[in-house]
Amino acid sequence: MTRPATGSLWAATGAPMAPLPQLSGQGRAEIVVIGAGYTGLSAALHAAAAGRDVAVLEAGRIGEGGSGLNGGQVIAGLKHDPQVLESLYGERIGAQLTACSGSAPELVFELIRRYSIDCDAVRTGWLQLAVGERHLELIERRAAQWRSRGADASVLSDREAAQLTGSRRYCGGWIDRRGGTVQPLAYLRGLARAALKEGARLFVSSAVSSLARRADAWWVQTAQGSIAARTVIVATDAYTGRAFDALRRTVVAVPSIQVATAPLPPALRAGILPGGQSVSDTQRILRYFRLDASGRFVLGTRGSYADLPAPSATPAHEQAMRELYPQLSGTALEYRWGGLVAMTRDGLPHLHEPAPGLLAGLGYNGRGVAMASAMGRLLARRALGEAPESLDFPVTPVRPIRLHALSRVGARATIRYLQTRDALERSLRRPRPGASA
Ligand SMILES: Cc1cc2nc3c(=O)[nH]c(=O)nc-3n(C[C@H](O)[C@H](O)[C@H](O)COP(=O)(O)OP(=O)(O)OC[C@H]3O[C@@H](n4cnc5c(N)ncnc54)[C@H](O)[C@@H]3O)c2cc1C
Repeated sequence: MTRPATGSLWAATGAPMAPLPQLSGQGRAEIVVIGAGYTGLSAALHAAAAGRDVAVLEAGRIGEGGSGLNGGQVIAGLKHDPQVLESLYGERIGAQLTACSGSAPELVFELIRRYSIDCDAVRTGWLQLAVGERHLELIERRAAQWRSRGADASVLSDREAAQLTGSRRYCGGWIDRRGGTVQPLAYLRGLARAALKEGARLFVSSAVSSLARRADAWWVQTAQGSIAARTVIVATDAYTGRAFDALRRTVVAVPSIQVATAPLPPALRAGILPGGQSVSDTQRILRYFRLDASGRFVLGTRGSYADLPAPSATPAHEQAMRELYPQLSGTALEYRWGGLVAMTRDGLPHLHEPAPGLLAGLGYNGRGVAMASAMGRLLARRALGEAPESLDFPVTPVRPIRLHALSRVGARATIRYLQTRDALERSLRRPRPGASA
């Protein structure tokens, strides 16, 4: 068996980007964006398109954070259902969060169209599938809530789930046709090119080490240079470091690992996700999967910190593949890679404004392809001077998690416990005999 590559599938298959400069010397910009993932590049693109002078500073290369490493599933909505959002945050803010997150995939596919981004974009829907009967009620409620708010969504029987996936492991689910898939790194690089086209300046290998307010400007410092700006947007999500320590402590960064096979032979490929949808299931530690444009099977689930950036073995992934698609037993893996997902205490992303002219957006809880793109636009609108009340998204105070230093230990223990419960639940369920694919 060939040894899987240590880089990601997306880096191996995406068109490369032209080299970008490193920041050096002293400069000025109206807006400085820190971090070149979807949040930062969408913010830069929207602000530059509105005529602002924008500079983006990225610590590594474009795509080294979650935006270059993820599963490429474009998903509408947040972890909480619309009614939960309304009961937790009140009708007005709940409705805002629902509307903003529900329309986020539309923004992704619109940006792809507007800037002709070549990223294998497919919009055939996202499936959320139930691993046990007890999850069906939740799924039905979720689909009904979104349908009543205009979403193109429907509930799936076990037979329909089997037809769409080619797997008999699920007892039903729902399809949300607002969703789809992209080659995530190609989408990100497309956003970078679009931001450049709109006039933004992008700097790589330019990690921000400090930020200070002097006179009427923010001074952003890197090892080789500095930039003064009226507004700074911090868009570093799970990769937020100690330069922004309070912000770093608002999220717990947990590892998620993916594997990909070689392109499947046509006979195998025809029986797996024939409609091109992507899937997340309802396990406590969810499993998510899709095919890429070449017919590789790509599957992800939580891993351990020691697995990053690329694990040497992925037994949980291989077991998941065998359970879902016994026909994939023995299929070699070509790629294994992973990244960090930013989880928040309340399961929601946050837009912060800790000081005048200082903005941040982060915490997508594994749903950032669409939502981080939308957050970038919100941050740009605020940076352009729009009032917080008209943003349709709450601006919340920075509230670090107490005992954050222990959060990795807690995350590790919680993941192990939830994995055990999922495995127990799976062992109680057998493939559905009536649900032939
Ligand atoms: C394995 C995996 C699978 C996922 N699958 C999905 C999925 O299928 N669908 C979905 O919706 N979401 C998914 N996600 C989540 C999604 O990828 C993220 O929510 C999203 O990419 C966050 O984008 P971002 O721009 O906020 O942050 P990032 O893309 O992480 O970008 C942050 C950037 O900030 C830079 N940075 C950090 N510190 C500094 C500094 N001091 N100076 C300069 N730059 C700095 C980093 O280098 C990084 O490039 C997944 C995440 C992972 C890791």
